Amino acid sequence: MRADLIICGLGPAGRAVAHRALADGQSVTVIDPHPDRVWTPTYAAWADELPDWLDPAAVAATVAAPTAWAVREHRLDRAYQVLDTAALQRSLALDGARVLADRVVTVDGGTVRTATGSVHSGRVIDARGLSRSPRRAEQTAYGVILGRDLLADHPTLFMDWRPDNGAAPEEPPSFLYVVPLGPDTVLYEETCLAGRPALSPAMLRCRLEHRLRERDIPLSGTEPVERVRFPVQGGKPGRGRFGAAGGLTHPATGYSVATSLRAADTVVAGARMWTPDARAVAALRRAGLRSLLALPPRDVAIFFDAFFALPVPLQRAYLSGHDDLRGTVAAMRALFTALPPRLRGTLVTAVLGLGGAVGRGRSERST
Ligand SMILES: Cc1cc2nc3c(=O)[nH]c(=O)nc-3n(C[C@H](O)[C@H](O)[C@H](O)COP(=O)(O)OP(=O)(O)OC[C@H]3O[C@@H](n4cnc5c(N)ncnc54)[C@H](O)[C@@H]3O)c2cc1C
Repeated sequence: MRADLIICGLGPAGRAVAHRALADGQSVTVIDPHPDRVWTPTYAAWADELPDWLDPAAVAATVAAPTAWAVREHRLDRAYQVLDTAALQRSLALDGARVLADRVVTVDGGTVRTATGSVHSGRVIDARGLSRSPRRAEQTAYGVILGRDLLADHPTLFMDWRPDNGAAPEEPPSFLYVVPLGPDTVLYEETCLAGRPALSPAMLRCRLEHRLRERDIPLSGTEPVERVRFPVQGGKPGRGRFGAAGGLTHPATGYSVATSLRAADTVVAGARMWTPDARAVAALRRAGLRSLLALPPRDVAIFFDAFFALPVPLQRAYLSGHDDLRGTVAAMRALFTALPPRLRGTLVTAVLGLGGAVGRGRSERST
């Protein structure tokens, strides 16, 4: 069967492309084993990353200037938005698409074969996400959802690396993430940014409970819980792949949703996403992840302190500039210059790929 566009996978990336292609008048077939599965993760993004066409109802909360704590407190003058995940999914409507509950078995050029034996041809977008693998660094987190009425104060903390979570200085670090989910609730989440292996949910739960005790935030034990685990490495640009499968996950943050939403129109138009600049940025970001994995635990907060002290345009270039090569290089250079010499040495070794011993030492830590 033919369609203008055949989209494999209905996560945020596949659904965004399907939705925008339908708006563009294209015929669309979407294939996912569970096309009606309701998304539940808490998605968030910088406001300036989200596309203009996004339904405002998909935004649950906006924070004008979140805080980051590393060694010191930093106010980030860049609006941050928490999405209403269910509303986001609904807003990426698929009216008019042919939706198949099936599993894609092979993608061969413009032909897709499914587990039930159906064959489809057209322009194929492979947005099947990333599978877990011990070779891929992952992000993990454990969070609880608290009522705002229980909290005297509920700052938005993009990252809080303060050492009040009970972890010993030589243990792999984790940070606290605090965001409003709407007018009534707040998510407190202890997060392992990237690890191979990443910290276990049980360890993160222990650290979160320790931190909240230290901050006099009471837990009843009946709070709704969010568990996070997904690869931040992997995916290959090009050949019709998109979203996490297409290498759009930022390896140093794990974010891809806003980038996929924003890039959906480029894909629909058949324009080139992976320019030479975008590929160079991806290589630099991979080097950034190697650096992060190589840092001794006690240096991680120092690294982020230097990062959050950068001017916001440089932070933006590094975190969101998918094809902003000049900005990414400028951000990395400024960060490098701001770091103490001891950290610079570690980063150079990691970036040049010479840091096997350091990287393995970190990744083999039992969690
Ligand atoms: C709790 C949690 C919180 C998160 N918070 C954020 C955040 O704040 N911001 C952010 O940017 N990211 C966040 N992430 C990461 C984010 O979920 C992923 O980056 C994002 O889902 C990737 O989107 P995707 O559409 O590329 O792939 P996926 O979401 O993995 O979707 C892939 C789709 O393909 C389908 N599929 C798989 N195999 C096949 C097959 N053989 N045939 C057909 N279909 C198939 C799957 O069923 C799935 O629907 C979070 C993740 C979790 C778990």
